[in-house]
Amino acid sequence: MYAFGNGRADGSAAMRDVLGGKGAGLAEMANLGLPVPPGFTISAKLCIRYLETGTFPDEFREEVDRHLKQLERASGKRFGDADRPLVVSVRSGAAVSMPGMMETILNLGLNDDTVLGLIAGSGNPRFAYDSYRRFVQMYGDVVFELGKVAFEAVLEKARQRRRVERDIHLPADDLAALVREFKTLIQTRTGKSFPERPTDQLWGAIEAVFRSWRTRRAIEYRRIHNVPDNMGTAVNVVAMVYGNMGTDSGTGVAFTRDCSTGEHVLNGDFLSNAQGEDVVSGTRTPLPLAKMRRGRLAKVYRDLARIATKLERHFNDVQDIEFTFERGKLYVLQTRRAQRTGIAAVRIAVEMEEEGLVSADEAVQRVPPQDLDQIFHPMVDPRAPVTVVAHGLPASPGAAIGEAVFDADAAKTLADKGHRVILVRPETSPDDFHGIVAAQAVLTARGGMTSHAAIVARGMGKTCVVGAQEIEVDPLRGRFRANGRVVKRGELITVDGTTGRVILGAAKLALPKVGVHYTKLMAWADARRRLGVRANADTPQDAKRSREFGAEGIGLCRTEHMFFEGNRIAAMREMIVAPDETGRRQALAKLLPMQRRDFEGIFEAMTGFPVTIRLLDPPLHEFLPHTAAEIARLAKSMKLPVSRLKRLVSSLVEVNPMLGHRGCRLGITFPEITEMQARAIFEAACRVVARGRQVVVEVMVPLVAHVEELRRQAELVRRVAQEVFHAEGRAVPYRVGTMIELPRAALTADALAKEAEFFSFGTNDLTQTTFGLSRDDAGRFLPFYVEHGILAHDPFQVLDQDGVGQLIAMAVRLGRGARSDLKVGICGEVGGEPSSVKFCHRSGLNYVSCSPFRVPIARLAAAQAALEEAGVTNRTRATV
Ligand code: PEP
Ligand code: MG
Repeated sequence: MYAFGNGRADGSAAMRDVLGGKGAGLAEMANLGLPVPPGFTISAKLCIRYLETGTFPDEFREEVDRHLKQLERASGKRFGDADRPLVVSVRSGAAVSMPGMMETILNLGLNDDTVLGLIAGSGNPRFAYDSYRRFVQMYGDVVFELGKVAFEAVLEKARQRRRVERDIHLPADDLAALVREFKTLIQTRTGKSFPERPTDQLWGAIEAVFRSWRTRRAIEYRRIHNVPDNMGTAVNVVAMVYGNMGTDSGTGVAFTRDCSTGEHVLNGDFLSNAQGEDVVSGTRTPLPLAKMRRGRLAKVYRDLARIATKLERHFNDVQDIEFTFERGKLYVLQTRRAQRTGIAAVRIAVEMEEEGLVSADEAVQRVPPQDLDQIFHPMVDPRAPVTVVAHGLPASPGAAIGEAVFDADAAKTLADKGHRVILVRPETSPDDFHGIVAAQAVLTARGGMTSHAAIVARGMGKTCVVGAQEIEVDPLRGRFRANGRVVKRGELITVDGTTGRVILGAAKLALPKVGVHYTKLMAWADARRRLGVRANADTPQDAKRSREFGAEGIGLCRTEHMFFEGNRIAAMREMIVAPDETGRRQALAKLLPMQRRDFEGIFEAMTGFPVTIRLLDPPLHEFLPHTAAEIARLAKSMKLPVSRLKRLVSSLVEVNPMLGHRGCRLGITFPEITEMQARAIFEAACRVVARGRQVVVEVMVPLVAHVEELRRQAELVRRVAQEVFHAEGRAVPYRVGTMIELPRAALTADALAKEAEFFSFGTNDLTQTTFGLSRDDAGRFLPFYVEHGILAHDPFQVLDQDGVGQLIAMAVRLGRGARSDLKVGICGEVGGEPSSVKFCHRSGLNYVSCSPFRVPIARLAAAQAALEEAGVTNRTRATV
């Protein structure tokens, strides 16, 4: 247990694992001489022990008593004293910030005697009874686990009786009556009476805070954010300071920079005459911090600004500061690393470098690569006409379209069925967490920029608008009303988290342009990385977009993807079901010009950069005609009887298509397919070169298991290349290489490297075949594996470094042993996932290739891998 207050503390920021983020921050701030109310922190280590055994160690009770005595001395008040009562808050705080996920109890220590002391001390009975009723209400909700609704209903009745809108308008007598009603409610619901002795109250609260580590929402939050389950939460017992003592008191949250945009400006929300949960829960809409600047609260604002600057400099990172002011005196209750959007993360890192607070190396290290995703969030196309029904606060940027739903369970159920939904609530509470996760965006009628919905959504990079006061949400009826319009459950709306607009129907979305900060950061990243970054792109449009995202070539062009559309699929089907070589050649002749045209477009877009074109690798089942209409149409164009075509199709059905007649097996058995593709590739290359462009061709053979497969296919490709070059009267530089997608390929990589000029790891198939689990069927059980901790991640999303990664490392070693200048890349889905990119860097790959949108993520992750290797670490000192 660790005490803090009055300019000193037992702990420090370095003890986050024991003290939790909040405890470590309080200790550090006390050591800095900042105005922190005195208190003590109970170690997070005890939490897990308590949850496992249900008891505390013997000496623990004495320890708590000793610290309470110390706190009484520090505050000059006594627990249970009717004249000068000590009143405390009991707050959770884990080593990793989990905003709103665990419990906090305020005003603990009040009972029918001590409330009189509070009245005497403050001269304000209304305030004292308001604190008391809040305490009993919170205690009933959290410790007796009765939830919020029952208490809110009693409160609502009290407001109606008095015909007032807000709790602060209830007179002291009503509040005292509420205390009695709440106690009766607890007694009737639980059969237990409310504990009057402050020490009993404290023990109940400590246990409840520990238990809150295991609530559904906390577990879910940890799962989503990859927070380990075995950390536990610390408990902070802190002397109360009161934000609800009158209009010169208040409470709020301040950010040292704008966490939506990154702008360097102190901002946040506050409420006067209120306690912390009023701001966070969104039950009252707070005012922007800037409103404190002038008038009666100007001095509090100046003190806050000074402390904010000091904290940001001290922790060397943007801070999210909880404060309370009691009769004009400011107290800081918590400071932590501020959560920020991707856009803000980039701007803050760059500006902190410009201000000399961090180096460029550190700035690059500071931005989580995954967060760049948000920069490319769609926004509402500014030129498209829209019908705006309401405005709220732009809490988390981006725009999203979905069906309006009005409760979290419905959001989850519908999303599981594949619907895109927008969760619309009066306000959100942590109980709505699963609904927020499931939704495309969140919209609330109440709450400020620091309300639960805003913080949670922003942390997830999810579009969010809060405090849209013009909308009146009726969750029971499943609808909301706004400015004379009604939107019912299931109707489409668009939420614009960048501007705060709520739009009827599906608005036209567009991608935003990147700003100067992004460009600067990415230039730093590019100068630091060793790994090349290419894109997986199948069409000229994708190739163009890839270049815009900074791709330095194409690492995978899946040629079969060119045939999904329009009349192309018909020619492709003809080719697949052709009964003999003649039929196949006829169909291939139709495909050749289409492929050649696409290749030309891709080569043009990628001038000067390598383009890896993979020979046809269609799992045949994806292309076979299925419906009677499809079969009839194809039979007609092939001039075959339907019955004959049906027989041909059924003869092609495979039991296990993923391991069937696909990859190079197709080109081996039907060499005319490879021949046509090679011809299309080299003819396109020659034409583009003839227009004065530089073309670098890489032809890649898929699904190779044995070197002989590669040798034969490579020979064929080279023969066609010579024929084309001869006919066109010019040559184009090219390489022939192979994918490594099967364990046998990895095991015999030395032999393959003798034939291949490059390798590209196809980790989708390599993961499938290494694990022996089907890519198509894994959805049935992989989520279970991840949820139950059997696997830390889905290996199709995050490279399995211990297994598949070993095969990669080995194949690189064997391959380079046989051919020292062997170029090696990766083109499976994991090629754009940060931890996998870092693994590729460490394994000595030349490049990663991923979908165009993930190219910036891969560039940044590659730079971070290089910096990690050079020993550059992030020096942020933030406690959470
Ligand atoms: C792979 O297997 O990793 C790969 C890129 O190929 P595909 O996903 O097309 O099988
Ligand atoms: Mg593959």
